[in-house]
Parts: sequence; structure tokens; C-alpha cells
Amino acid sequence: MTEKNIESEKAAQVADEPPGTNAVRHSVEDEEPPSLPIIKTGRNRIFASVPEESWNDWRWHFRNRITKVEELAKLVPLSAQEQRNVELVTKKYPLAITPYYLSLINFNDPDDPVRTQAIPSFREIACSGAGYEDPLEEKRHSVVPGLVHRYQDRVLMVLTDICPMLCRHCTRKREWHKGTWVRTTEEVKKMLEYIRLHDEVRDVILSGGDPLTLPTSRLEEIIAQLRQIEHVDIIRIGSRFPVVLPQRIDSELCDMLSQYGPIWLNTHFNHPHEVTPESARACERLVRAGVPVNNQSVLLRGVNDSVAIQTELCQRLLKIRVRPYYLFQCDSVRGTEYLHTPVETGIKIMEGMRGRTSGLAIPTYIIDLPQGGGKVPLLPQYIMARTKDEIVLRNCQGHVFHYHNPDGSNSNNNGKKVKARRPRSINRDGQLILPVGVVDENRAVVRS
Ligand code: SF4
Repeated sequence: MTEKNIESEKAAQVADEPPGTNAVRHSVEDEEPPSLPIIKTGRNRIFASVPEESWNDWRWHFRNRITKVEELAKLVPLSAQEQRNVELVTKKYPLAITPYYLSLINFNDPDDPVRTQAIPSFREIACSGAGYEDPLEEKRHSVVPGLVHRYQDRVLMVLTDICPMLCRHCTRKREWHKGTWVRTTEEVKKMLEYIRLHDEVRDVILSGGDPLTLPTSRLEEIIAQLRQIEHVDIIRIGSRFPVVLPQRIDSELCDMLSQYGPIWLNTHFNHPHEVTPESARACERLVRAGVPVNNQSVLLRGVNDSVAIQTELCQRLLKIRVRPYYLFQCDSVRGTEYLHTPVETGIKIMEGMRGRTSGLAIPTYIIDLPQGGGKVPLLPQYIMARTKDEIVLRNCQGHVFHYHNPDGSNSNNNGKKVKARRPRSINRDGQLILPVGVVDENRAVVRS
């Protein structure tokens, strides 16, 4: 960002300010968690001249998002061909990167994982025939504009289509070229009305776009009204701000959220390079405000499709108090095919992580089925065979064990209670260790 740009930004006063941003500003230094020093991650390479105050102000980042090829080319090395490609792609799928997220890219590496998620690729339009525009068929499940009610006890409130950054693998990519919008007061009123009338709804997810692009005061209006609905137990917020613009998680927001718990926040880290002191501070602030943070990452080719990277990511997340929750198979969205991995890759990652790191660090691998079929968890195959009362299992090291499968009743034929028998496949300590006739890890002889 050049000094000239900064000055003209001040003079122009926020043509692209986050919608309705007029809330009182609080210093981000308020109640700073002491354990995490502020480090200017990658910033010195490109944004050294940006004053500290601006760098710590999420509105500054939002206003100065890079949305044009020319702006991008001034800041980072792009060949003429790359510029032409980006220009072509952005006609269909626009560009938006926060200065913070741009500062994480190593431009000496053409395959940098942060770059892949942020900088448009020609491959987005090169194979644009495959995939679906709306693979999850969210429109079909909309009960009033902006409110998706697919599962019985949950609804999704889509409050805006504005995001701090446009991630190249986004499921809602179809919406990008339609311009930006925020739900009106009237529309939100109708959504709340629906929720009030449906007492089976106990979980409300605020989504977008990114709902944290709304000013904190507007968010509070919505959250406060939800909290008045007795049958709404929990509120969840889906936001990528902790990853792409962590300065948004300021004390004003955290103070507000702390008053309306239980609130959970699901975020979207995909690579260990995204776990920075700034993002750590954001997550720590949320946790201190009583907002647990879960991570829903997306499996992306060339970004995080290995056991080593997933393990490092999840271990780093735990260190900043974020629970690895889901690892999603990338949705079949048009314009993202080049980032897809075979399902076998995801299963191998699950297999490789089990035993290598603690269960707390292992997310659930999920396919969100097309045509609105819902989420299905996928696991490596651990059951090798079954008989009536026994299951043959292999563990993460490939050793085979026989497990006596209780039939659920503790009675004999006369209806009298009998003492449970220790089956042959369980040792005196209750451990399930009795491999029998094992040929190799994939073939076992089952006793009759
Ligand atoms: S933040 Fe989420 S909704 Fe927004 S572009 Fe990225 S993936 Fe899509």
C-alpha cells in the first residue's frame, strides 16, 4: 500500500466501507491478552509504511481490500501474462483480498498455499463446465428470503453476501457477480418471525457471506432478538474473519458477544501459515469472551492435502484454543474443480492422523452431499469382518483384534440375570487383544 493510496483513502472516505459502519471505535489494545505478543506478520514486505493504528483497524483493511488487478500488480510481482489471466478470471469471479491476508503470501513460491486461496487462477474459468452452481441447493430449502431450514432443529440466516476476502474455493461463488447486499431490517424481521413460530428450531447459524462484515451494533440487534426467543438454545456464527482479517475480533465485538451466550463461532483455517500471532490473538479474545471456536477446513489440492500439513494445522489450532471440527471435501462448485482431491486422499489423511496425533486434533472428514443430501462423515474402514457376536477390527497400526460384541441383554432364557462371560478375545484387564489366525492386516480368519 503506497502512502498516496493511504491519503486518498482518507480523503475519499470509505466508498466501500463495511455496510452501516458507524459504531463507536474501541482500541484493539483494550484488555489485550498478555500471552500473545503482536507480531507484524509478513507485513514489512509490502505494507511497511502503513501506520500501526491503521494496521490494527479492521475497517482500514476492509476499505483497502485489493479488488483490482492493477492494485494487485502494484503490490506484488505478477507477470504480464498473469495480469491478463487475473483480469479475465475476475470478469466472472471477482477478486478481494485484505492487506493482512495478502501479507501472508510468499510470492517467491508460485504454489504458496495462501496465494492459491486468494489470487484468481485461470483454471477457474478454464474448466468451467463441470460442477454445480449451487451444489447444496440452498435456494430450495429457503423458507423465507435468506433463511435456510434444512435440518429440523437448525436454521441458517444468510445476512449478507459480503466477505472480507473472496476465497477461490468458495461454495457460494455463484453469488459474487451479483453485487453486494445486506438483508434489510424488514427481511430480518421476517426471518425472526419464522424462527419464533417454529419451536423445533433450537440452533441458529448466522452466515453469509460473512456476518461479521455487519457493524457490531447491527449484529447485536439481531442477536438480542434471537436471545428473546425461548426455544433458541444456541447461536452460531460462521466467519472467516479470524483467518483473513483477525483485527475484526476487537474488544467491542467480544464484549457484545459475551452478553448473549451461548454463542459458538465456526471459522475456516486451511493451512498452518494462517495461524499467526494476529489470528491467535483473535481466537484467544473470543474464547475469553466465552465464545468457543471450532474450525471447519476445506480439503484443497496443493494447499492442505497431506497428512503432514493437516496434522500441523490441527496441532497449531489446538495451541490457539481452536478445536478442529470438520474437514470438508471441497464441494462440487463450478470454477473450483482444480482444487478438488479424490475422496481417497481425505480418507488417507484421516488414517494417517489417527495414532500420529491426539484424537482432539483430528477433525471429522465430511462430504456435504450434492442436491442438498446433507453431511456424511467418512472414515477409513476399521471393521474387517463380523460374526453374530464378534467384530474383527484393525487398529491404526494395522494390528487385528477380535472384539466381543455384547448383544445388549444381560439375561438368560429364564429371565434370570447372568454374570457376563469374559469372551476369549478379551484379556483379564478388559483389553481387546486376541489376534487369531491373522494372515496380514487386510485378511483375518474369523473363528466360527
Ligand atoms: S469467507 Fe466463506 S463465504 Fe466468504 S468467500 Fe470465503 S469461503 Fe466464501
